[in-house]
Amino acid sequence: MPPISEQASRICSHCGLCCNGSLYSAVPLTPADRSKLIAVAEVLVEANGDLAWLQPCAAHDGSGCTVYDRRPLACREYQCGVLDSVAAGSLSAGDAVMLVSQVKSLAQSVAARLSAIDTQQQPKPLYQLLNDFDQHVQLLDPAAQRAMDPALLLTVGTLKMMLGKHFKVLEFADEQPPQSP
Ligand code: SF4
Ligand code: SF4
Repeated sequence: MPPISEQASRICSHCGLCCNGSLYSAVPLTPADRSKLIAVAEVLVEANGDLAWLQPCAAHDGSGCTVYDRRPLACREYQCGVLDSVAAGSLSAGDAVMLVSQVKSLAQSVAARLSAIDTQQQPKPLYQLLNDFDQHVQLLDPAAQRAMDPALLLTVGTLKMMLGKHFKVLEFADEQPPQSP
């Protein structure tokens, strides 16, 4: 969780999307982070040798970071697109809070729908649900793709577009506005 201006603090306390597994699958850790934070959560050693914590981050309590003063370097340096817009003056803090609420509500609805159709039957954070759903759709033959629920595709597409546009999630940066069913 990002810069600690008064405005950012207010917006982030309503959000948590960059900590709870909605935008990212993991928090990268430096060796210095690891030595400071090893007791907080298990460290995942990725295949390329990088260190990371899986998300949802164990240090997020639902409204903030419980290790704020010791948080990893990546968290210190991070600033999402919403905060970029507030810092640039193109979005007021009040509108940012409303935008965050709107995206969180949509995210909860999408997570519930994707969890219900997920074949692995195990709880997954939103980021993983979205990626697994994309893979699932890509593997379907064209007839099965055409038979999919258009309302679900519209909702998922709208969320991905908002995550790409407002939160700088790279995978969704080129997401086009979905067509209505
Ligand atoms: S360490 Fe803190 S700021 Fe970083 S992802 Fe976890 S809860 Fe968020
Ligand atoms: S996604 Fe942006 S607004 Fe939300 S908690 Fe992270 S930095 Fe704050």
